[in-house]
Amino acid sequence: MRYRKLGNTGVHVSEISFGTIPLLRGSIPVLPACYNLDDRTAISIMDYAFRAGCNLYDTAIVPEYGDAEIKLGKFAASIDRRQIVISDKARFYDGNEMYQAVCLSCENLGTWADLYFVHQADPSHEDQIFAKGGPLDALAELKGQGKIRFAGIASHYYDILLRGAKDHRVDVLQGSGNLLERGMLDRIRQEPLFRDKGILINKVFAAGLLPAFFPAKTLMESVLSYPVSSALIGIGTLSQAETAFVRSWEKEEGKPHLPDFHQVLSVLEKDFSPIPCDRCQRCRCPHGTEIHTVFRQYHYYFLGKEYWALNKLNLSIEESALQCRKCTKMPCISQCPKGIRIPDEIQRVSKLVKIHAHTANPAEYHTV
Ligand code: SF4
Ligand code: SF4
Repeated sequence: MRYRKLGNTGVHVSEISFGTIPLLRGSIPVLPACYNLDDRTAISIMDYAFRAGCNLYDTAIVPEYGDAEIKLGKFAASIDRRQIVISDKARFYDGNEMYQAVCLSCENLGTWADLYFVHQADPSHEDQIFAKGGPLDALAELKGQGKIRFAGIASHYYDILLRGAKDHRVDVLQGSGNLLERGMLDRIRQEPLFRDKGILINKVFAAGLLPAFFPAKTLMESVLSYPVSSALIGIGTLSQAETAFVRSWEKEEGKPHLPDFHQVLSVLEKDFSPIPCDRCQRCRCPHGTEIHTVFRQYHYYFLGKEYWALNKLNLSIEESALQCRKCTKMPCISQCPKGIRIPDEIQRVSKLVKIHAHTANPAEYHTV
């Protein structure tokens, strides 16, 4: 295992880190029933990763990741606590609520949290999050009290991560990206403001979908080719832990081949017609369509999350397609560096949803 600096925190973390969602027991809609681990099994998997060199474990407050936070606390108590970095988060956008949430997380863990993130920071809560007296101020206060060591923002939105990079209260950021959705990673690499922050990246396997197309090692190495601190991998079995923490690090001759974006598309083209969108998030629709999210759901539909993707798309794609038909200026087109005919693609996605929305199978296999 190799280790990297976590921004300016003075902490070093393993390049591959442990995402604890699959360890949970309880009913979480995005997870398949096969993840329903008892404490002993969950702790043994975390311990296996620890012995393979993993020192960063990421979780979220109960019940966001079921009881994973409690299991992580039990694991931390079974080893020398100071040897691991616990990353935790909660979805609260009010300062008082965030303060209470962190106190509850510390109780659940039975110890301090090293990193604590405002979870799922999105544009509709952005101003609240950064406001005086908001959750970032609460995290700063908790840092002073020793309940956490570092404060962060976790978001799938580049602009919010960038705002976090400029904010002195923020030590760490958690974003998402992978071989296909690499636009945000490219922008992080180009922006020097991110250099001072520790950066964790999730969705490295795109919710477990990309390993059907690319080797796990390639997926992890591609994220690690960017200036980030660690790639977070959701682990729910010993074999997943072995793949992430042991097998991928076995010595091989030469550097792994990292496919460029066009090579990635040509692999996917064997199965379907991907939209050449890398989720750079440069396009903005004044009529409210979140273009990068629509294209992501389209890809996830074909990559294996049919039911989930169609349900999400079904909520707003008809309205988006209607807006595109009425849109005369189409500013999104000139904003896209990939030259994607965005309104045409939105019509294509809308047609797909119309045809398949009522036939998708809710029993599809969900992965993380
Ligand atoms: S063409 Fe469609 S997606 Fe693009 S700006 Fe207009 S309404 Fe928005
Ligand atoms: S459509 Fe173009 S601009 Fe928008 S996220 Fe995708 S690649 Fe970026």
